[in-house]
Amino acid sequence: MNRMGAGYGSNIFNMFSTGSSYYGLFGSSSSYWANGLNNSFLRYGSNTLSMLYNFGTPYAQSAMNLSSGLSNLGFNLGFYGSGNFYGYYGIGNGYGSYYTGGPFIFPYGFSNSGSKPADSNNQPSEPTVLVNIQIDADISPGRDNVQGLINLIDELEQRKIKATVFVTGEFANQQQLLITDIYNDGFEIALHGYYTGEQLATMSYTNQRSLLQNAMQALEGCFTCGTYKPVVGFRPQYFSQDPNTYAILDELGISYNCGFKVGQIPYVEGHMDDVWPFPMEGHDFCVLPISRGEFDGQTVYLCDIAMANVYHMSAAEWGGLLSDSLDRAIALDEPLVILFHNWYTGMDETPNPGEEGYWKPFVDFLSEAKNKGASFVATQKLVEDFCN
Ligand SMILES: [Zn+2]
Repeated sequence: MNRMGAGYGSNIFNMFSTGSSYYGLFGSSSSYWANGLNNSFLRYGSNTLSMLYNFGTPYAQSAMNLSSGLSNLGFNLGFYGSGNFYGYYGIGNGYGSYYTGGPFIFPYGFSNSGSKPADSNNQPSEPTVLVNIQIDADISPGRDNVQGLINLIDELEQRKIKATVFVTGEFANQQQLLITDIYNDGFEIALHGYYTGEQLATMSYTNQRSLLQNAMQALEGCFTCGTYKPVVGFRPQYFSQDPNTYAILDELGISYNCGFKVGQIPYVEGHMDDVWPFPMEGHDFCVLPISRGEFDGQTVYLCDIAMANVYHMSAAEWGGLLSDSLDRAIALDEPLVILFHNWYTGMDETPNPGEEGYWKPFVDFLSEAKNKGASFVATQKLVEDFCN
């Protein structure tokens, strides 16, 4: 994992800042150089081969313009190959000069020695960011909840992306074979309560306990029927839960709970802004909060239907939010945890009738994340690796 502020390789590049956030060089022992805010991304490959993403595209052009605006000096993109450093820089709105070979003086006051990166000996690069896609399998009356789930799962499978599916007890009872198939295809299955829209925090301990226990049984299936799957994760409907819920999660052997949003309530004392998983004090599970983004000057959490219902975001706005959040996660070295719903994204729904639906921002995000060096992880793996 890379930490902001580290130099590149041994001594070749240094961190720089324009005073704007997410702008700079990242990397410690790994082999890449990313510019989070501007969507341009540069990867160092082996000793002789390197790749430049998005160069010459509108993204690169806008990166140039943006940084020019900030500094009036420009922004450089470059790649390392065959012992030479190649760089571009811009002045004003356009591309400036092109350099090849020899020392290259960057406009932000740092320089490159012209020597090879120390760690580029054909080692695979570390991921730039860990992305956890959470797919909700809820039942929304009047929609094709099953086809929506199949669409999402097929897309992820084609892309070989690991993800976690949060399933309600109700959905599991109606679609036991489908959920078992999805599990057998390598997806993690997690508990999402029993009924769509239930609010655990309004219920007694006894009612919550029987509801969650029934849901858990519905999800896990049974050994003798060949439908058994282990379930260790949980996220309540509507993020609704209370200390009774926490006690029940311990009793059910749940090891992580995603019913929290970064920077928003409900939160755990002292962990308001935590983005990585952390142990829940006094309980046996870890908390992994859902990632946040910025929209219209407000902090929002990354969930398709929340953005559709509350903000009536167009597909383009939702896509932009996902893209910005990806860049921020890369720049700040944070994981990115995002929710997509079977009956919404999976069915290409839109909050604005007649407009483009939410399918395209979903697949565009998957492509962009991949291009920017993301690694997709199931929730359980993210929690096991980082909850400490
Ligand atoms: Zn849900």
